Amino acid sequence: MFYYQIALRQVQDAYTWESTEVLNLGDRVEVRFRNRKKIGIVVGVSTDKPNFKTAPVLSLIQANFLNETSLKLAQYLSKTHFTALSKVLTLMVPESFWSKPDPVKKETYWQLDEDLTIDILSHPTQKKYFEFLENNNHEVWSNEIPDAFKNTHKTFVKKTFLKAGRSRVSIEHSLKLDLANSDSNHALTSQQDGALKLILGCQSGSLLWGVTGSGKTEVYKQFFKALQKEDPDAQFLLPEIALTPQLITAFNHLFPSEVAVWHSNLTANEKVQVWARIQSGAIKVLIGTRSAALVPMPNLKAMILDEEHEWTFKNEFNPRFWTHEVIEFLSKALKIPYVYGSATPKLRTYHLVQTKALNLVELPERVHKTAMPKITLIDLKQEAKRGNFSPVSAALQEAITEVLASGKQVVLFLNKRGYAGSAMCRYCGDAFGCDNCDMSLKLHRSGSNSLLICHVCGAMKRFPKCCPSCHKTEFTFKGWGTQQLENQLKELFPQTPLFRADKDNITGRYDFENMLKYFKNTPQSILLGTQMIAKGLDFADVALVGIVLADVGLHLPDHHAEERVYQLLEQVSGRAGRRHTQGQILVQSFQTDLPLFEFLQRHNTKGFMQQKYEEHVQLKLPPLSQVSKIIIVDHNKANAFAMCKSLYMALEKNLEELALDKVIEATWAPAFFPKLHNKYSFYVFLKSEDQAVLANFMQNYDWPKEVKIDVSPVSLI
Ligand SMILES: [Zn+2]
Ligand SMILES: [Zn+2]
Repeated sequence: MFYYQIALRQVQDAYTWESTEVLNLGDRVEVRFRNRKKIGIVVGVSTDKPNFKTAPVLSLIQANFLNETSLKLAQYLSKTHFTALSKVLTLMVPESFWSKPDPVKKETYWQLDEDLTIDILSHPTQKKYFEFLENNNHEVWSNEIPDAFKNTHKTFVKKTFLKAGRSRVSIEHSLKLDLANSDSNHALTSQQDGALKLILGCQSGSLLWGVTGSGKTEVYKQFFKALQKEDPDAQFLLPEIALTPQLITAFNHLFPSEVAVWHSNLTANEKVQVWARIQSGAIKVLIGTRSAALVPMPNLKAMILDEEHEWTFKNEFNPRFWTHEVIEFLSKALKIPYVYGSATPKLRTYHLVQTKALNLVELPERVHKTAMPKITLIDLKQEAKRGNFSPVSAALQEAITEVLASGKQVVLFLNKRGYAGSAMCRYCGDAFGCDNCDMSLKLHRSGSNSLLICHVCGAMKRFPKCCPSCHKTEFTFKGWGTQQLENQLKELFPQTPLFRADKDNITGRYDFENMLKYFKNTPQSILLGTQMIAKGLDFADVALVGIVLADVGLHLPDHHAEERVYQLLEQVSGRAGRRHTQGQILVQSFQTDLPLFEFLQRHNTKGFMQQKYEEHVQLKLPPLSQVSKIIIVDHNKANAFAMCKSLYMALEKNLEELALDKVIEATWAPAFFPKLHNKYSFYVFLKSEDQAVLANFMQNYDWPKEVKIDVSPVSLI
């Protein structure tokens, strides 16, 4: 008898079932659990009879459903991120595979009986269908039968005029890719060619560090192409779904009909179909966001993580993994190369290059040889002294006018949505806060309606006619949002088409894609938006990029705050003058004297990184140490505080007993925003320069069930 541990969806622990049959790890099986039939995945096996009663495995549904590497990856993430294995598997395997034995939709290939001739048929539609099939090589895929012949087809099948042949996994209609505007091949520049050779010569990881507009995508394409003779599967991971269309076009040219996309917005059915097509070998290139990294590919030979510095590559719920962890795990397990790409790598990546753990490949020049855009700083304090408190400074207005007059386009970036930041009574100073969060409500305007909205929990209030405390009717507003910027632009440039991209305006699945298409085809127009518009977009006619308020995010007490602001600003700047003409960037800020802006102005990303890196080395901050965050959340503030303090004290005591208190440092703090969504958060931090010792300690500590553990948090606040 064999005893199998089987993971079920939404069941925390893997329970044990018995069977006389040999099953393999990764098999998909049916079992009875609490009087219900359930589908699970075999994750463990033993021949030792356990000391409790076990029920039999009902049936094997699909052998080798998950390959060994994927199962090991799931186990690794489960262990390192303190998350039940079944939860990791739930994230990896589409939902329908847990609920239906065979959720995959297939198409059948029908072939016409060779002996059938048209004169046997009497009905005119039957004759027409016969002719259609004759012109179609006497065969048809079930999904390609014209509507007019659907009934006739049934008759033909009934009369055995048609015979069923092989079958294939159907392509979800919604995911059919637009092949019409397929990209052509560009010859590589000598710089790109050199970079490609370096990447191909490396068996593990490379950082492709290329300035914006240096043509990284072309290098990626040729990298996949060079692998093509091995009939490889390859993954291309990127931070935003909005960036996929450009890439699909690029890769479809190389791998016609063998490209698929994967992201969290796919429907359950779409996921099943894409998954099945990958497993059947029909898909060679998978383009997707971080969840795509977990999708098993049978012959995976290369992985690319583009815009690797983006924080969206971190999973913000359990398991709280970084996409780079998955890539580095798979690269080691499968001995395959991978490439991280960025114009502004994150500090961890910079550290890996410094310690020679990553191969550095540089693209310091733009493909079209256009000079890097010229960056001009605008001091908003001076602007305010001149009496201009609006989001568009005199210099920015002048630059926009000139660029529009020359027939070009403008992109304006403001990383705040809504109309204004906080609102306050002019007389008593009463401010409007969210009842659920320690946050000010933001003013939103649509038409004549004024609303106050919380950007954390979405709570909404009508803007009051008068101050609830003193009943006066005058208010002051702090900060600008994209709505206010749009309003002002309408006043200043009434004839100019405006496109506003932010979360209030872009709600549908294809809204953003469609807006970008319109913008591209509308000369002399302005695109304004939040960080949605910062990444990867490539417009030939954008000659001016205005950063309306560069200070957003700089005040946060986090060691990564400046790093992130710099990355964002450099990304946004990269949207200007990508082809033929040198672009122009105007950066508005209240703190123009910060060193960050000097680095930005000189496009000296390396200088900036080196300075930040030295700071982190000196203070022993990540990536030079590991800081793990243990999160305590409760509806009751006193409870949360008490839980945090008692955990902290227990940890201190334990560290002392194990004589680890010199190696691992424990601290605690309330969250920077202590109350969000009506819940209070407190943190305990564990910091160590010895990652292995810290990991080992954390693995062996008996954590209270209520805490959440983030071993490598995006931020400490
Ligand atoms: Zn008042
Ligand atoms: Zn709120």
